[in-house]
Amino acid sequence: ETGLYIVATPIGNLGDMGQRAVQVLRDADLIAAEDTRHSARLLQHFGIESPAIPYHEHSGERAPARIVNTLRDGGTVALISDAGTPLISDPGYRLVREVQAAGHKVVAIPGPCAAIAALSVCGLPTDRFRFEGFLPAKAGARAQRLQDLVDEAASLVFYEAPHRVADALHAMVGVFGPEREAVLVREITKTFETVHRAPLAELHGFVVSDANQQKGEIVLVVAGRDQGDVSLDADTARLLERIAEELP
Ligand code: SAM
Repeated sequence: ETGLYIVATPIGNLGDMGQRAVQVLRDADLIAAEDTRHSARLLQHFGIESPAIPYHEHSGERAPARIVNTLRDGGTVALISDAGTPLISDPGYRLVREVQAAGHKVVAIPGPCAAIAALSVCGLPTDRFRFEGFLPAKAGARAQRLQDLVDEAASLVFYEAPHRVADALHAMVGVFGPEREAVLVREITKTFETVHRAPLAELHGFVVSDANQQKGEIVLVVAGRDQGDVSLDADTARLLERIAEELP
Protein backbone atom coordinates (compact mmCIF):
# COMPACT_ATOMS: atom_id res chain seq x y z
CA GLU A 1 0.00 0.00 0.00
CA THR A 2 1.24 3.46 -0.85
CA GLY A 3 2.81 5.56 1.87
CA LEU A 4 5.95 6.28 3.83
CA TYR A 5 7.15 3.37 5.98
CA ILE A 6 9.36 4.19 8.97
CA VAL A 7 11.46 1.06 9.29
CA ALA A 8 13.54 0.14 12.36
CA THR A 9 16.78 -1.75 11.65
CA PRO A 10 19.24 -3.59 13.97
CA ILE A 11 21.48 -1.72 16.44
CA GLY A 12 24.40 -4.12 16.06
CA ASN A 13 23.08 -7.62 15.47
CA LEU A 14 21.63 -8.39 12.04
CA GLY A 15 19.61 -11.20 13.62
CA ASP A 16 17.35 -8.53 15.11
CA MET A 17 16.06 -7.47 11.69
CA GLY A 18 12.29 -7.95 11.59
CA GLN A 19 10.55 -10.00 8.90
CA ARG A 20 8.18 -7.19 8.10
CA ALA A 21 11.10 -4.76 7.86
CA VAL A 22 12.76 -6.97 5.24
CA GLN A 23 9.53 -7.36 3.28
CA VAL A 24 8.72 -3.64 3.29
CA LEU A 25 12.25 -2.73 2.19
CA ARG A 26 12.19 -5.34 -0.60
CA ASP A 27 8.83 -4.07 -1.84
CA ALA A 28 9.68 -0.37 -1.53
CA ASP A 29 9.91 1.66 -4.71
CA LEU A 30 12.43 3.85 -2.96
CA ILE A 31 14.49 3.66 0.22
CA ALA A 32 15.47 6.93 1.90
CA ALA A 33 18.55 6.22 4.02
CA GLU A 34 20.43 8.42 6.46
CA ASP A 35 23.65 7.16 4.87
CA THR A 36 23.30 5.02 1.77
CA ARG A 37 26.84 3.65 1.98
CA HIS A 38 26.35 2.61 5.60
CA SER A 39 23.03 0.93 4.82
CA ALA A 40 24.37 -0.87 1.72
CA ARG A 41 25.68 -3.71 3.89
CA LEU A 42 22.32 -4.28 5.58
CA LEU A 43 20.42 -4.13 2.31
CA GLN A 44 22.83 -6.49 0.61
CA HIS A 45 22.69 -8.95 3.51
CA PHE A 46 18.93 -9.27 3.15
CA GLY A 47 18.91 -9.29 -0.65
CA ILE A 48 17.14 -5.94 -0.84
CA GLU A 49 17.60 -4.32 -4.22
CA SER A 50 15.25 -1.35 -4.05
CA PRO A 51 16.91 1.92 -5.11
CA ALA A 52 18.25 4.00 -2.21
CA ILE A 53 18.76 7.74 -1.90
CA PRO A 54 20.24 9.75 0.97
CA TYR A 55 17.96 11.61 3.33
CA HIS A 56 19.57 13.94 5.89
CA GLU A 57 17.83 16.45 8.00
CA HIS A 58 19.09 19.97 7.72
CA SER A 59 16.73 22.48 9.22
CA GLY A 60 14.35 23.73 6.61
CA GLU A 61 15.23 21.06 4.09
CA ARG A 62 12.29 19.77 2.11
CA ALA A 63 11.75 16.17 1.23
CA PRO A 64 13.82 15.24 -1.82
CA ALA A 65 11.69 15.51 -4.96
CA ARG A 66 12.08 11.79 -5.62
CA ILE A 67 10.32 10.90 -2.36
CA VAL A 68 7.44 13.25 -3.07
CA ASN A 69 7.10 12.06 -6.66
CA THR A 70 7.17 8.40 -5.70
CA LEU A 71 4.37 8.90 -3.17
CA ARG A 72 2.33 11.03 -5.57
CA ASP A 73 2.61 8.27 -8.17
CA GLY A 74 1.15 5.78 -5.66
CA GLY A 75 4.47 4.15 -4.78
CA THR A 76 5.91 3.23 -1.40
CA VAL A 77 8.92 4.82 0.27
CA ALA A 78 10.80 3.37 3.26
CA LEU A 79 12.87 5.48 5.62
CA ILE A 80 15.77 3.88 7.49
CA SER A 81 18.56 5.34 9.61
CA ASP A 82 22.06 3.98 10.25
CA ALA A 83 20.74 1.90 13.13
CA GLY A 84 17.63 1.49 15.22
CA THR A 85 14.42 3.44 14.90
CA PRO A 86 14.38 6.48 12.60
CA LEU A 87 13.46 9.82 14.26
CA ILE A 88 14.86 8.70 17.65
CA SER A 89 17.94 10.95 17.74
CA ASP A 90 17.92 10.46 13.97
CA PRO A 91 16.49 12.30 10.95
CA GLY A 92 12.93 11.99 9.72
CA TYR A 93 10.71 14.30 11.74
CA ARG A 94 10.36 16.90 9.02
CA LEU A 95 9.81 14.26 6.38
CA VAL A 96 6.99 12.64 8.37
CA ARG A 97 5.28 16.03 8.83
CA GLU A 98 5.64 16.94 5.20
CA VAL A 99 4.39 13.59 3.90
CA GLN A 100 1.38 13.67 6.24
CA ALA A 101 0.61 17.26 5.24
CA ALA A 102 0.58 16.12 1.61
CA GLY A 103 -2.11 13.58 2.54
CA HIS A 104 -0.06 10.40 2.44
CA LYS A 105 -0.05 7.60 4.99
CA VAL A 106 2.93 7.16 7.35
CA VAL A 107 3.30 3.63 8.71
CA ALA A 108 5.53 2.40 11.57
CA ILE A 109 7.50 -0.82 11.18
CA PRO A 110 8.76 -1.04 14.78
CA GLY A 111 11.90 -2.78 15.92
CA PRO A 112 15.22 -2.15 17.69
CA CYS A 113 15.82 1.08 19.60
CA ALA A 114 18.85 1.55 21.86
CA ALA A 115 16.95 3.60 24.45
CA ILE A 116 14.22 0.99 24.89
CA ALA A 117 16.70 -1.89 24.89
CA ALA A 118 18.77 -0.12 27.58
CA LEU A 119 15.70 0.53 29.72
CA SER A 120 14.71 -3.13 29.49
CA VAL A 121 17.96 -4.32 31.09
CA CYS A 122 19.12 -1.39 33.27
CA GLY A 123 17.36 -2.39 36.47
CA LEU A 124 16.02 1.10 37.16
CA PRO A 125 12.31 1.96 37.23
CA THR A 126 10.78 2.01 33.75
CA ASP A 127 7.20 2.92 34.61
CA ARG A 128 8.15 6.50 33.81
CA PHE A 129 11.19 7.57 31.82
CA ARG A 130 12.38 10.69 30.11
CA PHE A 131 14.38 10.37 26.90
CA GLU A 132 16.95 13.16 26.63
CA GLY A 133 18.92 11.99 23.59
CA PHE A 134 22.40 13.53 23.36
CA LEU A 135 23.51 16.11 25.92
CA PRO A 136 25.04 19.31 24.54
CA ALA A 137 28.76 18.85 23.83
CA LYS A 138 29.82 22.08 25.55
CA ALA A 139 30.34 21.89 29.32
CA GLY A 140 28.27 24.96 30.19
CA ALA A 141 25.24 23.99 28.14
CA ARG A 142 25.50 20.43 29.39
CA ALA A 143 25.55 21.51 33.05
CA GLN A 144 22.51 23.70 32.42
CA ARG A 145 20.61 20.85 30.77
CA LEU A 146 21.43 18.54 33.70
CA GLN A 147 20.43 21.22 36.18
CA ASP A 148 17.04 21.44 34.46
CA LEU A 149 16.60 17.70 35.08
CA VAL A 150 17.61 17.62 38.73
CA ASP A 151 14.05 17.35 40.09
CA GLU A 152 12.75 14.95 37.45
CA ALA A 153 11.33 11.86 39.16
CA ALA A 154 11.27 9.68 36.04
CA SER A 155 14.34 7.67 34.98
CA LEU A 156 16.53 9.67 32.58
CA VAL A 157 17.83 8.17 29.35
CA PHE A 158 20.81 9.68 27.51
CA TYR A 159 22.71 8.74 24.38
CA GLU A 160 26.40 9.54 24.77
CA ALA A 161 29.45 9.55 22.51
CA PRO A 162 32.23 7.29 23.82
CA HIS A 163 34.81 10.08 24.02
CA ARG A 164 32.44 12.16 26.16
CA VAL A 165 31.08 9.55 28.55
CA ALA A 166 33.62 10.20 31.34
CA ASP A 167 33.04 13.96 31.21
CA ALA A 168 29.28 13.49 31.14
CA LEU A 169 29.35 11.24 34.21
CA HIS A 170 31.61 13.72 35.99
CA ALA A 171 29.14 16.50 35.29
CA MET A 172 26.27 14.28 36.48
CA VAL A 173 28.06 13.60 39.78
CA GLY A 174 28.27 17.36 40.24
CA VAL A 175 24.62 18.02 39.52
CA PHE A 176 22.76 14.87 40.68
CA GLY A 177 25.17 14.01 43.49
CA PRO A 178 27.53 11.04 43.88
CA GLU A 179 24.92 8.66 45.30
CA ARG A 180 22.30 8.77 42.53
CA GLU A 181 22.12 5.36 40.82
CA ALA A 182 23.00 5.18 37.15
CA VAL A 183 23.62 2.54 34.53
CA LEU A 184 26.14 2.34 31.72
CA VAL A 185 24.63 0.25 28.90
CA ARG A 186 27.22 -0.31 26.21
CA GLU A 187 27.32 -2.15 22.89
CA ILE A 188 23.84 -3.67 23.22
CA THR A 189 23.38 -6.76 21.03
CA LYS A 190 27.11 -6.76 20.21
CA THR A 191 30.14 -8.78 21.37
CA PHE A 192 31.15 -6.47 24.21
CA GLU A 193 27.67 -5.83 25.57
CA THR A 194 27.98 -4.39 29.08
CA VAL A 195 25.40 -3.39 31.67
CA HIS A 196 26.93 -1.80 34.77
CA ARG A 197 24.80 -0.20 37.47
CA ALA A 198 26.34 1.80 40.33
CA PRO A 199 26.02 5.10 42.19
CA LEU A 200 27.12 7.92 39.87
CA ALA A 201 30.52 8.57 41.49
CA GLU A 202 31.34 4.86 41.39
CA LEU A 203 30.17 4.55 37.81
CA HIS A 204 32.39 7.48 36.87
CA GLY A 205 35.34 5.71 38.53
CA PHE A 206 34.51 2.49 36.67
CA VAL A 207 34.58 4.29 33.32
CA VAL A 208 37.71 6.34 34.05
CA SER A 209 39.72 3.36 35.28
CA ASP A 210 39.01 1.21 32.21
CA ALA A 211 39.54 2.72 28.76
CA ASN A 212 37.44 -0.10 27.24
CA GLN A 213 34.37 1.39 28.90
CA GLN A 214 34.92 4.54 26.84
CA LYS A 215 34.53 2.73 23.54
CA GLY A 216 31.63 1.76 21.34
CA GLU A 217 28.01 2.86 21.59
CA ILE A 218 26.64 3.95 24.93
CA VAL A 219 23.34 4.65 26.64
CA LEU A 220 23.32 6.13 30.15
CA VAL A 221 20.26 5.67 32.33
CA VAL A 222 20.09 7.73 35.50
CA ALA A 223 17.59 7.17 38.29
CA GLY A 224 15.05 9.90 38.77
CA ARG A 225 15.04 12.02 41.89
CA ASP A 226 14.03 9.96 44.94
CA GLN A 227 10.67 10.95 46.37
CA GLY A 228 12.51 11.56 49.65
CA ASP A 229 15.27 13.68 48.12
CA VAL A 230 15.43 17.33 48.95
CA SER A 231 16.31 19.37 45.90
CA LEU A 232 19.12 21.92 46.25
CA ASP A 233 18.50 25.53 45.52
CA ALA A 234 20.33 26.84 42.45
CA ASP A 235 23.15 28.51 44.43
CA THR A 236 23.97 25.42 46.46
CA ALA A 237 23.85 23.30 43.33
CA ARG A 238 26.24 25.63 41.54
CA LEU A 239 28.59 25.61 44.51
CA LEU A 240 28.57 21.79 44.59
CA GLU A 241 29.18 21.73 40.85
CA ARG A 242 32.23 23.98 41.29
CA ILE A 243 33.53 21.80 44.12
CA ALA A 244 33.03 18.71 41.95
CA GLU A 245 35.07 20.32 39.19
CA GLU A 246 38.02 20.59 41.61
CA LEU A 247 37.86 16.89 42.45
CA PRO A 248 40.35 14.64 40.67
N1 SAM B 1 17.86 5.74 16.17
C1 SAM B 1 18.75 5.02 17.05
C2 SAM B 1 17.94 4.18 18.02
O1 SAM B 1 16.80 3.84 17.72
O2 SAM B 1 18.43 3.82 19.08
C3 SAM B 1 19.71 5.96 17.74
C4 SAM B 1 20.57 6.75 16.82
S1 SAM B 1 21.72 7.80 17.63
C5 SAM B 1 22.38 8.72 16.29
C6 SAM B 1 23.07 6.72 17.99
C7 SAM B 1 23.25 6.51 19.49
O3 SAM B 1 22.38 5.48 19.94
C8 SAM B 1 24.64 6.05 19.90
O4 SAM B 1 25.52 7.14 20.03
C9 SAM B 1 24.36 5.40 21.22
O5 SAM B 1 24.22 6.36 22.24
C10 SAM B 1 23.00 4.74 20.96
N2 SAM B 1 23.17 3.36 20.47
C11 SAM B 1 22.97 2.91 19.22
N3 SAM B 1 23.26 1.59 19.14
C12 SAM B 1 23.64 1.20 20.37
C13 SAM B 1 24.07 -0.04 20.95
N4 SAM B 1 24.16 -1.14 20.21
N5 SAM B 1 24.39 -0.05 22.26
C14 SAM B 1 24.31 1.07 23.01
N6 SAM B 1 23.91 2.25 22.53
C15 SAM B 1 23.58 2.32 21.23
